[in-house]
Amino acid sequence: MRILIVEDEHEIAEGICTILEQAGYETGLAFDGQTGLEEILSGIYDLVLLDVMLPEMSGFDVLREARGAGIGIPVILLTALSQTGDKITGLDCGADDYLTKPFDTGELLARIRARLRRTEENLQKDLSFADIHLEQATFRLCGRERSIKLPRKEYQLLEYLIINHGQILPRETIITKIWGYDEETEYNQLDVYISFVRKKLKFVESRAVIVTTKGIGYSLEEGE
Ligand code: CA
Repeated sequence: MRILIVEDEHEIAEGICTILEQAGYETGLAFDGQTGLEEILSGIYDLVLLDVMLPEMSGFDVLREARGAGIGIPVILLTALSQTGDKITGLDCGADDYLTKPFDTGELLARIRARLRRTEENLQKDLSFADIHLEQATFRLCGRERSIKLPRKEYQLLEYLIINHGQILPRETIITKIWGYDEETEYNQLDVYISFVRKKLKFVESRAVIVTTKGIGYSLEEGE
């Protein structure tokens, strides 16, 4: 799970980063609203911790724009303001939760876990597309008649395609989402994995097809 922290006070931002990394999350940092919004729109994060008082753009505006662009990931607002008015504004903008600074580390982690758990529950519901279904517990791709166990990366790749079916996913976004920033991934490795997943879809005799949009990326579509 990858969490973005948008916070202009470097010390606080880096402190949160350390806490999250120790808890096993991958992290990203943005120190102003505009950069934060760009990072959110990249689509590679699973959750955002968003400060309200930010240079360039306020957290409220970042959130409004992100929601307007169809970004549905959980957003927890970090605010130094505890007035009811700000909380209502935050929720109206599409926040899922908020924490008033200074907050307790344990509470921060608990809120994050709660939000991510809901995401996972939603994912489980969404793991069907056309005539296929992904079984999270067993990593099996199930068609109407046949099923096959997928290796981890193929599973993650197909899961990501199913969740975002019908959308063209840029190559860079898929690579970052599946392989992360740290691992060195040759670009053609993605093509190899796409071909593996295509073979598995064929094996279970699915109508679902991975469509290539040249120079851009891939999308999962329902074929004939
Ligand atoms: Ca601030």
